[in-house]
Amino acid sequence: MPQITIDGTPVSIEDDSCVLEAIRGIGIEVPALCYHPALTPAGACKLCVVEVTMPDKPPRVMPSCILKLKPGMDIKTGTERVHKARTRAFRRLARYAPESETIRRLAEKFNVDIGQVPDNCIRCRLCVRACREIVGAGALAMDDMDNVVAAAGDNCIGCGTCVNLCPTGAIRMQDRDGIRTIYIRDEVIGKSPLVRCEACGQLFATQKFLSRVEEKTGDHPHVKEHHQYCPTCAKLLSDRVKSSSKIKRM
Ligand code: SF4
Repeated sequence: MPQITIDGTPVSIEDDSCVLEAIRGIGIEVPALCYHPALTPAGACKLCVVEVTMPDKPPRVMPSCILKLKPGMDIKTGTERVHKARTRAFRRLARYAPESETIRRLAEKFNVDIGQVPDNCIRCRLCVRACREIVGAGALAMDDMDNVVAAAGDNCIGCGTCVNLCPTGAIRMQDRDGIRTIYIRDEVIGKSPLVRCEACGQLFATQKFLSRVEEKTGDHPHVKEHHQYCPTCAKLLSDRVKSSSKIKRM
């Protein structure tokens, strides 16, 4: 039976299936995102590059998914040239899909440094300063190592101030299934349950935020009792109170 060599191990080949399958068949891991065994390979992501030497030919670095097995092939999956080509491929993909956790995790697994990925943040630090100076939560900080905005502990109260202030929309908020999530890139800054308005029943703010407001305003002489009203109902009810007090005065 014809033979090839994969990372120094002789392997018998039975057909002309692809090099990637043969490598994986002997338990060696090679990253690939565009490969599916049921489809014609495209060599698009280029993560599965290997170094191939054919008898009497110089070594070449090529995507292994589009390479057919040929007798006498000497395949190497971990050379310096492979690592460089794989790094280039990972960086290119990270530019296309900067928020992809899959790409980041896979790169980590294969010891590839994909460098700093664009995250839509212009490093103005408005969010960090607002969270500290206005909200008083201190839930955001600059990560000095990577020069990125990141969560500082578990301090987020889900107020959304940073989301509203961010000039480029890099920090986002998602309200789903009664939970508010604040995040940047694919990293969660905070997750907090939402509370329903006592008047209309709409989910409108997080309990952590309402508790913070209560803590800050509780002693104020004009705050008599706390109700959890959404801004619309609070306005409606206070307008009614104002107009009924005007009627009494007349
Ligand atoms: S949502 Fe969280 S991180 Fe953003 S300003 Fe409010 S407390 Fe700070």
